[in-house]
Amino acid sequence: MNIILLGAPGAGKGTQATRIAQKYGVIHISTGDMFRSNIKEGTEIGKLAKSYIDAGKLVPDAVTCDIVKDRLSKADVIGGYLLDGFPRSLFQAEELGKFADIDLCLNLEVDTALIMDRICGRRVCSCGETYHVSTLKGETTCAKCGNELYRRDDDNPETVKARLDTYNVMTAPLIAYYAAQNKLATVVCGNKTPDEVFEAVCAVLDK
Ligand code: AMP
Repeated sequence: MNIILLGAPGAGKGTQATRIAQKYGVIHISTGDMFRSNIKEGTEIGKLAKSYIDAGKLVPDAVTCDIVKDRLSKADVIGGYLLDGFPRSLFQAEELGKFADIDLCLNLEVDTALIMDRICGRRVCSCGETYHVSTLKGETTCAKCGNELYRRDDDNPETVKARLDTYNVMTAPLIAYYAAQNKLATVVCGNKTPDEVFEAVCAVLDK
């Protein structure tokens, strides 16, 4: 099964993607993670991506489509994959359609009023675990692997506002795009916990 995970920043895509990949044995492909590792390694793609990420804007389509196309040409995706954070524009969705067969677009719907607090209080670990400061009680390391937690550079109020604007203008139209292809399923997250959201996600995927 080849799945797209759609949702505003802070909808919980990363958390759900990790769980989906584990349970359904699909390969988790996150363009945000790919850009962050390029930035860490100081590659040309990383240098270019950083200025856009810091401004809350989309990395140019040509660069983004190329890295996804390259990733999907690897043998390990043959049993299915989950795209987390791609496509993020109609152009990207149309390009994706030229080199991939998508079965389902799973849209995580979240109340945008909750997003600012969710993201600005988010602390992440290099192992992929995500926390919120309100539940950490002062701990600075990951309960799962013991590594130091950190705040992503783009998880600050100014950049989050720009990321939300970018989502509304560039990415939200994809909901109608995949609905028109009868490939859309929406899970309403509301105030649900990650476990409750995952239960709803599994109900969709098990159909
Ligand atoms: P994420 O980790 O998915 O929140 O992505 C972090 C940032 O990486 C985004 O705010 C964008 O600047 C960039 N990015 C990730 N995926 C894409 C994409 N599909 N197209 C363009 N930029 C992207």
